[in-house]
Amino acid sequence: MLFRFDNTYARLPERFCARVLPTPVAAPSLLALNRGLAGELGLPAEQLTSPEGVAVLAGNRIPEGAEPVACAYAGHQFGVFVPQLGDGRAILLGEIVGGDGRRRDVQLKGSGRTPFSRDGDGRAAVGPVLREYLVGETMHALGVPTTRALAAVRTGEEVFRQGPLPGAVLTRVASSHIRVGTFEYFAARGDREALSRLVAFALERHYPDAPRREGAALALFDAVAGAQADLVARWLALGFVHGVMNTDNMAVSGETIDYGPCAFLDAYDPLRTFSSIDRGGRYAFARQPDAALWNLARFAEALAALVDADPARADGILNERLAALPARLAAAYEAEILRKLGLGSPDDGALELARELLERMAADRVDYTLCFRRLSAAAAGAGDSEVADLFHSPAQFRKWAGRWHRRLSGEPGTPAEHAARMCRVNPAFIPRNHRVEQAIAAAEAGDMGPFERLSRVLARPYDDQPEASDLAEPPGPEQWSYRTFCGT
Ligand code: AMP
Ligand code: MG
Repeated sequence: MLFRFDNTYARLPERFCARVLPTPVAAPSLLALNRGLAGELGLPAEQLTSPEGVAVLAGNRIPEGAEPVACAYAGHQFGVFVPQLGDGRAILLGEIVGGDGRRRDVQLKGSGRTPFSRDGDGRAAVGPVLREYLVGETMHALGVPTTRALAAVRTGEEVFRQGPLPGAVLTRVASSHIRVGTFEYFAARGDREALSRLVAFALERHYPDAPRREGAALALFDAVAGAQADLVARWLALGFVHGVMNTDNMAVSGETIDYGPCAFLDAYDPLRTFSSIDRGGRYAFARQPDAALWNLARFAEALAALVDADPARADGILNERLAALPARLAAAYEAEILRKLGLGSPDDGALELARELLERMAADRVDYTLCFRRLSAAAAGAGDSEVADLFHSPAQFRKWAGRWHRRLSGEPGTPAEHAARMCRVNPAFIPRNHRVEQAIAAAEAGDMGPFERLSRVLARPYDDQPEASDLAEPPGPEQWSYRTFCGT
């Protein structure tokens, strides 16, 4: 049936992955299908929704041309190196080149045990699968590079976490699943040949135009560092907390990957975490740039042997690269935050304005998304009351707003154009945690209505959708203590 696979990763040497089949599940039924993405991949939706299609999405049937493998990788988890992680509950079916010429992995997540499962059951639960689906698809709609969700299938089996939960399989689509941890896996084994193959493969797949004057490894390092800097800047601008920025969860493609204990901020708090296991706050919202830089330093170490045969020289070259990254990341973030305020250049104290606003927002725990969206409306000249109402000290905010309006009036375009520009970067809708949880609870009880409504609204996050204003509102006090659990 249907899938036109063209596999390349499975052709790499044996030690890159383990050949393994998904473990069939008892009673697969479709929870959600991403028809838009299916179309991009040239997969007819009616075939995917048929019993044979659902069997494929559940791992019960292997489509022709698939070469199922679990990929090997290592990773630093919360700062500690683990030499072997790998796909413990995911299986790559193969690669498809879409109508747009883009090559993408099709992977089942939650499809059973693999040689990399360690103590895990190889399975996933309905809740985390639907969260990954919703949050990932929203990221895509927000214009942020991300893995995508093609489908979610209920397995008809239970998985055991804190208690029994309904099981599910997610079909994940990614431009690849190569992680920083994939390089660390081979570097830790001193496998230069594999490293070199992986560098060539990743460069060809993701950055074919990267200048290679200084060699392939440095070309890849620079490209990945740039992509990660841009990605983290986008996360910060949108108030997104990834939650587990371990090196095995950092894709070299620059896509957001592995939505576990992630969440969008409601009240603005730079040190907010959502993950129950991130007790030290290592991956707190405002620490994400540091986490990305730390991961890139591990990436540099993994590549060092290919950069120069002399370790001291390799270190020198890579340290120079690493030293330049904080400024690169800061510049990417500054561009984002200025755009959120409708300001084109950092001149005339624009960055100071941004910093002051964020400080006030943090002090008053102002809802991050709502504040920027209402500022966008205020840019049109309708008055500042709606934004001011979000602050405990509206008078102070108004003083700030006066300066902001003056600065904004110097930007090209009319007030209406300023507002329209701001609305294109400041979403009205994000997957608010309490709404995601409601949609999941309903889905677990067999009602996909709330999930489908939320999906529909979040597909157009920058558009005002008055009929869905309930989904734009922040949570009430009873929902503030939201946490996710890493036992996904
Ligand atoms: P994560 O924190 O979700 O990125 O996962 C870290 C590692 O644990 C990866 O190697 C996963 O494949 C593995 N893993 C997570 N959950 C399970 C599970 N239920 N069964 C087997 N392996 C798992
Ligand atoms: Mg992971």
